[in-house]
Amino acid sequence: MVQEPTLFIDLNALAHNFGVLKQKLNTDTKFLAVVKASSYGHAPGVVAQKLVDLGVDYFGVAYALEGAELRAAGIKKPILLLHPMAAHFDQILEQNLEPSLYSVYLMRLWIDFLESKNITDYPVHIKFNSGLNRLGIALAEIPEIVSAINGTNSLKICSVFSHLGASDDPNAEEFTRDQIARYISFYNTFTQKMRDNNPEFIIPWRHLCNTSGVLNYPEAQYDMVRCGIGLYGYGNDSKHDRLLRPVAQLKAPILQIHHVSAGQSVGYNHGFIAEQPTVIASLPLGHADGLHRIFGKKNGCVWIHNQPAHILGNVCMDMLMVDVTNIPCKPGDTAVIFDQQHGAQNLAEGAGTISYELLTGLSKRIKRSFLSE
Ligand SMILES: *Cc1c(COP(=O)(O)O)cnc(C)c1O
Repeated sequence: MVQEPTLFIDLNALAHNFGVLKQKLNTDTKFLAVVKASSYGHAPGVVAQKLVDLGVDYFGVAYALEGAELRAAGIKKPILLLHPMAAHFDQILEQNLEPSLYSVYLMRLWIDFLESKNITDYPVHIKFNSGLNRLGIALAEIPEIVSAINGTNSLKICSVFSHLGASDDPNAEEFTRDQIARYISFYNTFTQKMRDNNPEFIIPWRHLCNTSGVLNYPEAQYDMVRCGIGLYGYGNDSKHDRLLRPVAQLKAPILQIHHVSAGQSVGYNHGFIAEQPTVIASLPLGHADGLHRIFGKKNGCVWIHNQPAHILGNVCMDMLMVDVTNIPCKPGDTAVIFDQQHGAQNLAEGAGTISYELLTGLSKRIKRSFLSE
């Protein structure tokens, strides 16, 4: 029974998933837990603290603000800032975040900023564009970054990394193998050039794999891996999903039941018109909660007494209506939007999206409740 929409967060499942991912790794491979977007919609502080207790080495976030949230929650571990922007340089420094330098432009701005503050040996990570064509430095830009790095004492190069674009797709193995090869060639060329100039240059770590990289290409784990979705229980493939346990379960109470007759409509703009007498349950979750309109018009279903109830018509801002014609139920009964049995990936896939989007879209106004032991 739930009295309001609640996202239950099972910290034991988090521990289980961490264990599953760790099992794929050599004992000395470091583990960076990706906790961007409020830990993929879960709840940043508590999840990160649990991950510290479990033994993660590093955290990764997208925005400086997210790094500041972790620091405010008492997290002392190093934090890699994946997508830094010049507007946040002061905050990066204040919160002791380690920026990814993904372009020559950003690298120059960051060096100027550090030099203006007389800061030396600030930890940074070089990001290579191995084929995703999102953020990253090109192979041809190595001479420029080497001279920029050699021209300053403000940087300490901790790692050189890249990001896989299709590690979850078995049909894209050739593309992924190419990315791996391009990454290693960038890494070798860069470190060789740095060493030519300075034999004391400390060899940076290598990291490339996200969750699907770890699960499908464990041989490319190198010195560290960066896992997000797997920690939260999704492996982008049913064979991996079986080993993992969804951390989040979203439930909501039925607020009201309506009996509509043939010809009557349900929701805004007559989004559903009953062809026969139909029983409707209204649930207090809507597009403002991250249950997007795409889930309406029977693209999604929820589970009431373990039976599927399709979402009818248009999802409203705060509310959605489901078909319970064949499900005996009453106000106060619980509707499961997703849980360990009915995973978020199924709901997401039915509407043409992915677990990542569904989870990270869940709004702050949904109550979070933690389950452990
Ligand atoms: C989000 C992100 C990850 C985590 O990916 P998952 O598929 O959730 O494991 C890793 N690396 C980078 C650069 C990312 O942006």
